[in-house]
Amino acid sequence: MRNPFGPRTGLPRLRESTLAGTMKETRLIERLVAIGWRGSRSVLVGPGDDGAVLRGGLVLSTDLAVEGVHFRFDWTRPEEAGFRAAAAALSDLAAMGAAPEALLASLAAPGDAALCEALQRGIRDAGDRVGAPVAGGDLSRSPGPVVIDVAVVGRTRRPLLRGGAGEGDGVWVSGELGGAGGAVAAWSAGEEPSVRARSRFVRPPDRTGLGVALSREGLATAAIDISDGLTRDAAHLARRSGVALVIDAARLPLDPGAGGDLSLALAGGEDYELLFTAPEAAAGRIAALGRELAVPLTPIGMAERGEDVILLDLNGCRTPAPPDGYDHFAAPGDRS
Ligand SMILES: [Mg+2]
Repeated sequence: MRNPFGPRTGLPRLRESTLAGTMKETRLIERLVAIGWRGSRSVLVGPGDDGAVLRGGLVLSTDLAVEGVHFRFDWTRPEEAGFRAAAAALSDLAAMGAAPEALLASLAAPGDAALCEALQRGIRDAGDRVGAPVAGGDLSRSPGPVVIDVAVVGRTRRPLLRGGAGEGDGVWVSGELGGAGGAVAAWSAGEEPSVRARSRFVRPPDRTGLGVALSREGLATAAIDISDGLTRDAAHLARRSGVALVIDAARLPLDPGAGGDLSLALAGGEDYELLFTAPEAAAGRIAALGRELAVPLTPIGMAERGEDVILLDLNGCRTPAPPDGYDHFAAPGDRS
């Protein structure tokens, strides 16, 4: 199935997505925001970030997972689909530096009670991982694919936003990239992914502790979670911050599940790691924080005057990084 707006995340993007599809989706989102958002005295941060921030520090976000677009039951068990959907929503709270407080889980599914229960168990398990209960939700029969919508509520005193990166800031990424994309690539080719790649897809990492610490200690100037691929999400951060992000491909922490394919780290998506910027003076403390949390934190580039994402490729050449479509990005030895 093809997402008519161009896939936001998930399986079709690796094979079918085009820049045109991305632009179409972006323009539609802009129109929907223009229709829905009127400004508010109680909403301090509205559309355009990983979550909305209310006066008092509550952070709200929601994430939709659609069967055939974001997950498939011949790839993942229902519990895993539920877990993944909730983990994706919680990842947005981590990107905002917010500690999760509760989830709301809405399901639209064929009249299959066992399936719904399995989905809900997966959502609950993702909530348990961060200490947040499923505090409500909704249920509807669906004549079509299964739809999982997870809304999350968290709290922070100092939200991390996409728009705070300044020239000279370092660019950091958590964890390792490309593993989940490796699983999607294998499934799409009719193969069984490696155990590592599969686990990266069905059980995205929890970066709550990292996001909360970056917020609490005032270390990061901007942050976003990597749901749509490093270059695409980096482009969002660059645009909101009004800087260029120069990313050094040689420094990207490649997940073993990516099978050595750098394009999966750049554009595979589904990683749910955090991309953040921080002043050079914070580098030592960030490295120490990574050791304390046992989360790899890698400096992968620098914010500069300019716009968009610039890739320092493996030959050391600067190339503008289009927000999508890195399937043909190859290591120097692979080039013909
Ligand atoms: Mg996000």
